[in-house]
Amino acid sequence: MVRLTFYGGVNEIGGNKILLEDGEGRLFLDFGFPYKRYKLFYEEYLSPRVGAGLLDPLAMGLLPPLEGLYREDLEEPDLWQQFRDNPSYRKLDKVEGILLSHAHLDHSGYISFVRGSIPVYSTAITAFLTKAIQDSGKSGTEQQICYYSPTVRDYPSGWRQISHLSSGTGTPSEQRQFCLGDISPEVLDSEARKFWDSGFWERTTRQKGFNSRPLGNLESCNFTLRCLPVDHSIPGSCAWAVKTSSGWLVYSGDLRLHGKRSGLTREFIEQAKRLNPRALIIEGTNTARETNVSEQDIYDNGIRIIREAGSLVIADFSPRDTDRLLTFLQIARDTGRKLAILPKDAYLLKTLRLLDSEIPDIASDDSLVIYQKTTGRTDIWVRNLVKEYDAKIVLAEDVGAAQHEYILCFSFFDLNELPGIRPAAGSIYVYSSSEPHDEEQEIDFRRLHEWLRYFSIKGMGLPVEINGEWQIPESEKGLHASGHACGTDLLEIAREISPEILIPVHSETPEFYAEHLEVSGINVVLPEVYGSIEV
Ligand SMILES: [Zn+2]
Repeated sequence: MVRLTFYGGVNEIGGNKILLEDGEGRLFLDFGFPYKRYKLFYEEYLSPRVGAGLLDPLAMGLLPPLEGLYREDLEEPDLWQQFRDNPSYRKLDKVEGILLSHAHLDHSGYISFVRGSIPVYSTAITAFLTKAIQDSGKSGTEQQICYYSPTVRDYPSGWRQISHLSSGTGTPSEQRQFCLGDISPEVLDSEARKFWDSGFWERTTRQKGFNSRPLGNLESCNFTLRCLPVDHSIPGSCAWAVKTSSGWLVYSGDLRLHGKRSGLTREFIEQAKRLNPRALIIEGTNTARETNVSEQDIYDNGIRIIREAGSLVIADFSPRDTDRLLTFLQIARDTGRKLAILPKDAYLLKTLRLLDSEIPDIASDDSLVIYQKTTGRTDIWVRNLVKEYDAKIVLAEDVGAAQHEYILCFSFFDLNELPGIRPAAGSIYVYSSSEPHDEEQEIDFRRLHEWLRYFSIKGMGLPVEINGEWQIPESEKGLHASGHACGTDLLEIAREISPEILIPVHSETPEFYAEHLEVSGINVVLPEVYGSIEV
């Protein structure tokens, strides 16, 4: 008997944490950050206490109470005593691994709390992206997906407990075991290996060393697995198929049929169909949508607007969506401008190029430059990057002096640079960003509009408040393509694969599948929060 338990991703977009059990074998399908529940209690300046380790996320219901699954260094003595009466409490002795579908935090984020001995299975690009995002991002327990700094109990003598668990800057970082599903680690060249194995690009000097772990492959898993690449708004996304005693079980991750790499999703459908799956766990983010915007539409709409711009162009999109970045790079080339990306985006591109030679080389691409912000302090990785690409660095005054030559890749959180640039009349702000649920931080649109008004910048494709809801005006749509398939495409995918059982996750409208697939002979079973389904 195969049992699936849904610890996240039910009636919410993201936070997927699905436990698959077949006899003694156990796997998790993703282990994502639960944005929806997190935001009920927390915001930027109110977050779980780092010094409390696992206590806060467990007590607030952000993590399921599964003893044995999480990092021992985050467990205070007696932690589990207060959760043993919880109806969802369980002791999980052995978990074979986590099948990670892609590097968006709502799928990967809470791997940071999971025991380091549990391997993560992913594509090579996803593995490398988790490292690059961590190297160049914020530090903190919730960011420790690729590697983590074990905490230490810290009770200074003579003081009454300043902190409980100190964030471990005195101990070496431990890299997690990543096993690649799409390529063999042997094919990686020395540069790629060096990136993976070294803590050289770590954020700070405070870390005392880096214990790297070589990349593995699927053979180390007791389950028979298939890693099936799909198209989504971040490269390296995949679906997974697991062979169980009840037959094949397919998990879609996030996917779409209208992106540049739709061929991958088509191939996934073919492969999944051939497995005659017993069950398909599928996302349902955009069930209400009937049509899609394509990347070509964005190019067409974007170039039309940007060609007319009299001065600076600011483009707001997720640079982790490399297809979008390439679209704006092409627009920059075709309008005689340069695309100015931030150091963290350059770091990601440089990392992706280790695995994909079609990613542009920042050093030799005449249309790409790096915008270095005005900072008081720079992390080591930024200093290294700025040194490496010295000739490609531009500062606020460079952009300010030649505004018509640039497309600046800024988001809301970079607008404090504007006093140094002083945008001239005719500047525009093109909003081409992902849906709010994909955002790692919630954008304050009211403030964004205030900034643009103050600097007389024209906003394009920006949500405006209509009856209390932020919506993009009909006439300015077509500057963003979703990472998720529309309802019509989701039904096509489900019907083509034709599983015996279909379980919708990552959706606020899971009943959509039941309503539309009733006649097709597919049994749609809706999961419940922390509930189990036997297949
Ligand atoms: Zn995603």
